[in-house]
Amino acid sequence: MLIGQDWCDAQSGERLDVENPANGEIFASIAAGGAAEIDAAVKVARKAFESAEWAKMRPIDRSRLLEQVALKIEAHADELALLESYDNGKPKHLAMMVDVPAAVEVFRYMAGWCTKIYGKTLPVSGDGRQYHAYTLRQPIGVVGAIVPWNYPLSMAAWKIASALAAGCTVVLKPSEVTSLTTLRLAELMLEAGVPPGVLNIVTGVGEKAGEALITHPDVDKIAFTGSTPVGKHILRSSANDLRRVSLELGGKSPTIIMPDADLDKAIPDAAMAIFFNSGQTCFAGSRLLCHESIYDDVIAGINEVARNLPIGPGQDANTMIGPVVNKKQRERIESYIKIGQEEGAEAISPDAELPGQGYFVKPTILSGATEQSRVFNEEIFGPVLAATKFSTEEEAIRLANKSRFGLGANLYCKNVKTAHKMAAAIHAGTVWINTYFVVDSAMPFGGFKESGIGREVGDEGVLMFTESKSVCALLDD
Ligand code: NAD
Repeated sequence: MLIGQDWCDAQSGERLDVENPANGEIFASIAAGGAAEIDAAVKVARKAFESAEWAKMRPIDRSRLLEQVALKIEAHADELALLESYDNGKPKHLAMMVDVPAAVEVFRYMAGWCTKIYGKTLPVSGDGRQYHAYTLRQPIGVVGAIVPWNYPLSMAAWKIASALAAGCTVVLKPSEVTSLTTLRLAELMLEAGVPPGVLNIVTGVGEKAGEALITHPDVDKIAFTGSTPVGKHILRSSANDLRRVSLELGGKSPTIIMPDADLDKAIPDAAMAIFFNSGQTCFAGSRLLCHESIYDDVIAGINEVARNLPIGPGQDANTMIGPVVNKKQRERIESYIKIGQEEGAEAISPDAELPGQGYFVKPTILSGATEQSRVFNEEIFGPVLAATKFSTEEEAIRLANKSRFGLGANLYCKNVKTAHKMAAAIHAGTVWINTYFVVDSAMPFGGFKESGIGREVGDEGVLMFTESKSVCALLDD
């Protein structure tokens, strides 16, 4: 763990095994921190927040620092991608394409924000006397950040870059399942010149380290990415002292294919929207809503794409589908495939042999999943697509919105008017039209409904780490 500039073990001496999901081998271990380490890290983060070195650093120098971090990550891209692949299972070449660039870009993007966080002057009417009134945007303070295991490096980078751009300091708890790239990122950040104490990493399980962070009285804001049940728990626990909370939670995002869609594009996109990262993406297109006139062709096409996706360890250069993150996750996904069949859906998957060892799951379509079924409504978080048909535009919108989640939606449609009308009607934080998976540091990201509260990255993402203060000065004597 990193507390200040000290790399330390847990006081209890406890450690957690790190497993390679491609073969079940334990290849490392991490410290299992708890309340004592969280308390030490928060104290150090508070001290750093109040230090002249950080608080008085010129915005332009903070900007330069974040750019240095971006360069460091870029210089270690290959190593970070490999580490992510061993830890999480994902194909290394895809981590090179997605996870690492996302981390680089958010630091580079947020470096620009350091010099652009400003308030407004306010034309107050008051009682007729003359006032000078303005708002200040001030850093919120010490941020407790908690991230999941599906995109460990980029999720950590999103939170750290945004919080630091705003002038905050951070205590971050990575997922106990995938802490390695976060620890390496922290090491690189110290090398890049980030002052000790500005970023602290406490590894450990959610019930101990995570719980200690969300209840620590000196943490000003919790920025959480993870499951909806844990997000709700964090929101409840924040009620005691009205601690600021932002939540990026689960999803059950639809891919909607309209009758006029370009199927040469829509079919491979719909397949990758669910099968990429073995379906372990919060905004995965896990529900297919397809017009009845093209439904059979689309299902056959998606299965054909799946058949051509090599399944194997993430370190093999041609692997497109790596293992899921661990045994528990594989069992959960397999149980959902059974549930889908019991509910009356047809399970369609390629004939492919799975590698003998490791936590592999075949890409699977549950065709004919009804809108009442569990597989249509619950987040599975695996390469499993719940597919159903619709007959009218209104029905497509109704089905898209028939979810307690509202993270993303992919819409395939050539008619521009229909596409924009539907984009406005869909309850989701992001709607992609004739594309999918475009997640960019400039585009605020977050969810409607039970997919979360707040937006990360973009202008909204950096302002989320600030408090707005109105200042009003009387100018008349
Ligand atoms: P999770 O909620 O089990 O764990 C997420 C993090 O919370 C981990 O670091 C965990 O240790 C910690 N945690 C667990 N219990 C805690 C507690 N009581 N107090 C404090 N922290 C606690 O989620 P997961 O299984 O790691 O990740 C998968 C989930 O994350 C999915 O639901 C997925 O949709 C969601 N997710 C959302 C986004 C988004 O941006 N909306 C992005 C990625 C993942």
